[in-house]
Amino acid sequence: MSAEIIDGKAFAAKVRGQVAEHVARIKADHGITPGLAVVLVGEDPASQVYVRSKGKQTVEVGMNSYEHKLDADTSESDLLALIEKLNDDPAVHGILVQLPLPDHIDEDLVINSIDPAKDVDGFHISNVGLLGTGQKSMVPCTPLGCLMMLRDHHGSLSGMDAVVIGRSNIVGKPMAQLLLGDSCTVTIAHSRTKDLPDVVRRADIVVAAVGRAQMVPGAWIKPGATVIDVGINRIDKPEGGTRLVGDVDYESCAAVASAITPVPGGVGPMTIACLLANTLTATCRAHGLDEPQGLTA
Ligand code: NDP
Repeated sequence: MSAEIIDGKAFAAKVRGQVAEHVARIKADHGITPGLAVVLVGEDPASQVYVRSKGKQTVEVGMNSYEHKLDADTSESDLLALIEKLNDDPAVHGILVQLPLPDHIDEDLVINSIDPAKDVDGFHISNVGLLGTGQKSMVPCTPLGCLMMLRDHHGSLSGMDAVVIGRSNIVGKPMAQLLLGDSCTVTIAHSRTKDLPDVVRRADIVVAAVGRAQMVPGAWIKPGATVIDVGINRIDKPEGGTRLVGDVDYESCAAVASAITPVPGGVGPMTIACLLANTLTATCRAHGLDEPQGLTA
């Protein structure tokens, strides 16, 4: 069997197109322009790339982008004061604080100071609780992107066996909650899981969010399963230089699975697309407008 490739790049472009259409409509009908504020503290090169990319894509879908770049030695209280200002600013519908923050700043305190209605990353403890209890919330972008791709591929996920490898607060746990919300039977595996190959082999859906290059071989995959690879790992190429790979061994898994996301070009592009979708959702909720169909959990 040779797996169908789930093209996250094309899917993300479609999502951005839907967002742009909806943004144009609410601008024309209500005079409202969604606004996303991104806060970056320090000069981490990877974070700078992400923030630039987010800002560019925000403007491309017709939203306002507000970038706040603060020095690495910015105090916690100054950062909290900025967030308070953004919370009170009606032109700002979504706030994202780029992580990681410098060591002298309490990340949880900062995240939980964001107005939950503007928490487009879905990391605020209120949104975590709302998601966990099946209520309307802001959903973390990466798992939301995975869910959208799975729904698009399968239609209903009801009754499917899903294994999420990884239990982080930003990917593994919310992913498991979303799959449970769609009535999958969900197993969360982690570094202490006994006989991981056996656990993975039972799954109709495997979501790998581990951070270990090519850790999951095709021999662990049930024939016909769908594999969603969240991992982003840089490895050395034999001929020199580096390349990006996921947490699954793509070639051997693609030979067994019925569908698989590649790395790059799978989950990665969906993450920013879902950030834009969340900003649109937050805008619609703030103004009591209809939410965009198919862009929320
Ligand atoms: P974390 O490091 O926070 O979590 C990794 C998880 O993997 C932990 O729960 C850990 O278990 C588990 N784990 C580690 N080793 C093993 C093992 N040998 N067997 C089973 N489980 C194991 O990572 P993140 O969730 O933040 O990210 C995971 C990956 O996804 C990374 O490659 C990251 O770069 C990528 N990522 C990609 C995004 C995208 O946009 N595509 C967005 C976010 C992340 P334990 O809890 O027991 O330690």
